[in-house]
Amino acid sequence: MKNSIVIANWKMYKTPSETISFIQELAPLVDKSSAEIFLAVPFTSIAAAYEAAKDTNILIGAQNMNDATEGAFTGEIAAVMLKEAGAEFVLLGHSERRTLFHETDPLINRKVKKALEDDLIPVLCVGESSKERDEGKTEEVLQRQLEADLSTVTEEEASKMIIAYEPIWAIGTGKTATPAMAAKAHGFIRKCLSKIFGKKIADKFPILYGGSVKPDNIASLMQEEEINGVLVGGASLQVKPFSDIIQSC
Ligand code: PEP
Repeated sequence: MKNSIVIANWKMYKTPSETISFIQELAPLVDKSSAEIFLAVPFTSIAAAYEAAKDTNILIGAQNMNDATEGAFTGEIAAVMLKEAGAEFVLLGHSERRTLFHETDPLINRKVKKALEDDLIPVLCVGESSKERDEGKTEEVLQRQLEADLSTVTEEEASKMIIAYEPIWAIGTGKTATPAMAAKAHGFIRKCLSKIFGKKIADKFPILYGGSVKPDNIASLMQEEEINGVLVGGASLQVKPFSDIIQSC
């Protein structure tokens, strides 16, 4: 497995000028970090973030995209537009997109394919709701999402992807999955990936954990061998907690 990966998901926070200040403050604090650092910023901040992060170890990406190349889709954004603005990766299938914006697995699958075609690293988010966990359906949900979202992805394409396990009940709630819970889910995800793409590719897949990651729980999560990094929402909005998380990865 490569270095650990830390991804910030800024959601609908930070203007371009706030983005520049953040990167200028963060970059010198993390320039020796062995973790790979990704910032998923709002669309309007991508170009500014790219410029500010140019000579740093920070990669810039987006939080969503359309699955079409171009067209009459008012308010949407294409992968090539993200790429030209400086994005190198894109979050896809985040639970807020699935629940608030009704994104389905077939649509997420088309977005994953399009991102790969246009040379963006897809970070595919999967995870169960608290009802599904309580009903013992966590593995069923993860398997269904993975099989559908990755159904047309080739083995060669798969080796460029990242998966984030994000239990919905842990996102923005302050309830983190225990390291053992997360590791069990990650082990299951890797088993599914192995069935889809074969063991060699599955073993190299970075699988990140996301859901209320904070400076005080990061060390115990990262002790689990199955956790290859983290996707961080709330705690990535301020420099100090985010750099503390990076230092622990
Ligand atoms: C997220 O939005 O992907 C996330 C993990 O958020 P938080 O860290 O705030 O739970």
